[in-house]
Amino acid sequence: TVASMSCVRIVVLGARKAGKSAVTVRYLTRRFIGEYSSSKDLLYRHEVCVDSHHCQVEILDTSRSQDDVFPADKVDWADAFVVVYSTADRRSFQVATDSLRRIQQHVAGRHAPIILLGNKKDLEHARQVSVDDGQEMSLQFQCQFYEVSAADTHVGVTVAFQSILREAFSQKSKR
Ligand code: GDP
Ligand code: MG
Repeated sequence: TVASMSCVRIVVLGARKAGKSAVTVRYLTRRFIGEYSSSKDLLYRHEVCVDSHHCQVEILDTSRSQDDVFPADKVDWADAFVVVYSTADRRSFQVATDSLRRIQQHVAGRHAPIILLGNKKDLEHARQVSVDDGQEMSLQFQCQFYEVSAADTHVGVTVAFQSILREAFSQKSKR
């Protein structure tokens, strides 16, 4: 059961400027700051309530773009994955697609809870990736999918993180 689980580790991956830090901080603080300048990976510890059980969550907000090097060590560390792209940046969608493929190759046998997040949906006028594209990708990789805006409101981001946490805790409790 969820009650027996102490900690779940989540890594946030995606292209530069996709909004990895913005969604992480939005989830943790319900605020949008605007500029997130850290060039280091940041590890957050957070206590959550999943299905009325208190649990620990560690969230690793990565700063390096996955276009350079696949972060195999962080993938090994994590129980679950948040893969972020910007709906206003086609290239970030390609990076996300590549990350999904490589995560699944890397974890091979084990089931990896993954959520694909199309961020910046407030920038409708600048949209370069359709909802259908995101949906299709999530079906292909059998992962969860949400379009969100870290800038607009905490609601979508919070719901998305709760959803991946729920899957991660239930998956971990099976092992
Ligand atoms: P990271 O490099 O993936 O961590 O991206 P950041 O979180 O630093 O965000 C990159 C830029 O996009 C910053 O200027 C943010 O203010 C902006 N940004 C992040 N999320 C959103 C969003 O949902 N909407 C809009 N309009 N801008 C966003
Ligand atoms: Mg960042």
